[in-house]
Amino acid sequence: MEDFRLRPVTTALPAVLLEARGVTVSFPRPGGGAAVVLDRVDLELRDSEILAVVGPSGSGKSTLLRILAGLLAPTHGEVRYRGQPVHGPTPGVAMVFQTFALFPWLTVLENVELGLRALGVAPEERRRRALQAIDLIGLDGFESAFPRELSGGMRQRVAFARALVVEPDVLLMDEPFSALDALTAENLRTDLLELWLRHRIPTRAMALVTHNIEEAVFLSDRVVVLGTTPARVIGEVRPELPHWRDRESPEFRSRVDEVYALLAGERQRRLVHARPLLPRLPPAPVGLVTGLVELVHDADGRVDVRELADELRLDLEDLLPAVEAAELLGFATSHDGDLVLTDSGRAFAEASVQDKKELFRQALLERVRTAQEVVQTLRRRKPPRMPAEFFLDLLERHFSAEEARRQLAVVVDWGRYAEAFAYEEATGEFSLETEEDLLGL
Ligand code: ADP
Ligand code: MG
Repeated sequence: MEDFRLRPVTTALPAVLLEARGVTVSFPRPGGGAAVVLDRVDLELRDSEILAVVGPSGSGKSTLLRILAGLLAPTHGEVRYRGQPVHGPTPGVAMVFQTFALFPWLTVLENVELGLRALGVAPEERRRRALQAIDLIGLDGFESAFPRELSGGMRQRVAFARALVVEPDVLLMDEPFSALDALTAENLRTDLLELWLRHRIPTRAMALVTHNIEEAVFLSDRVVVLGTTPARVIGEVRPELPHWRDRESPEFRSRVDEVYALLAGERQRRLVHARPLLPRLPPAPVGLVTGLVELVHDADGRVDVRELADELRLDLEDLLPAVEAAELLGFATSHDGDLVLTDSGRAFAEASVQDKKELFRQALLERVRTAQEVVQTLRRRKPPRMPAEFFLDLLERHFSAEEARRQLAVVVDWGRYAEAFAYEEATGEFSLETEEDLLGL
């Protein structure tokens, strides 16, 4: 593929197309009160740029995109399109979602035409433009196919054609490649980038939400990092590398590391400023956490997390919850993208199987608020048993219903391994069983 130069750099900044100003979003909590998801977010999308927004899952990325698209009104602050405040769907904006929101009873052509029907474009013109968009995105020959006859990758191409057919000024994409297998995702990513670089689409700017750091650095001119709960912009990295970018090059790797370090710093901040709220447990299976500590120990107590993910053939994002868990338990700390074992992490790695459980149990009960709540509640009961619903209700005061269930599953997984408490699936009951538990040690 040919070597594209960076777009010309001028001293004047290109015009702002779309901007969020002081955007705060809160949702009512099921148990009362409000959950603040975005906190005074300022974001600009300028002419000729591809912007990537990365952040942990649940940090509010989709919410931010829906706000920019005018599909959701901010609680405070405003969205402006070419300087004008937006009320209702933002003009000039088209959106692509993670999953293929196609109408199953319509053909590819009809699905693509749909975007134009809403704009009141005449039938012949609709057809002409839809065929053109289908051709552009590599769906030629599939015009009369139905969505069910297409692979996931082709369906997502239809979603792109439907967004591009309206010739949007701004294209917003919410994890558009993350439901696809790696190869399919890469093909669609490079096809989109090629359309952009060759100016084959009239779109002036694109914003992409992703939890995939490499994807963000590969595609974008600017990576904005969102911190979580509530989400704020915590930093920005500009790849400043010509396309096509070589993912193996040291420059590319160093940009990935910069983004990673911002996210790691954010995790530290969250640990230090643990608020009276129950901190969210990273959803890492206990085996991955203990295995990670042992791997770091085997590597002389220090690993580059990104390299480790590569070696394990895991996405960095899939390893991160285990990294976060090791930090939370005090077994490791992060330094510049490296994970470094602490003394207690070393002790854990070197301990026998039974001693491991004991060390894990100590760490859990000293440092993990949710586990403390469970054990303290059980200790107050005679006999020490409690239904799971009780803890679910407790968690639902801090998290959405779905997240509360996930949090409970994590604490059960960790607590069972540590033998800190028992959970019986059949009865749905938590209990303390060992003598030590009952003695309240
Ligand atoms: P991301 O896309 O980064 O994974 P989202 O923007 O989907 O995050 O969600 C951020 C948070 O806002 C989550 O905790 C989610 O539960 C909450 N949230 C999103 N939409 C709603 C809604 N309509 N009502 C209540 N909570 C919501
Ligand atoms: Mg999302």
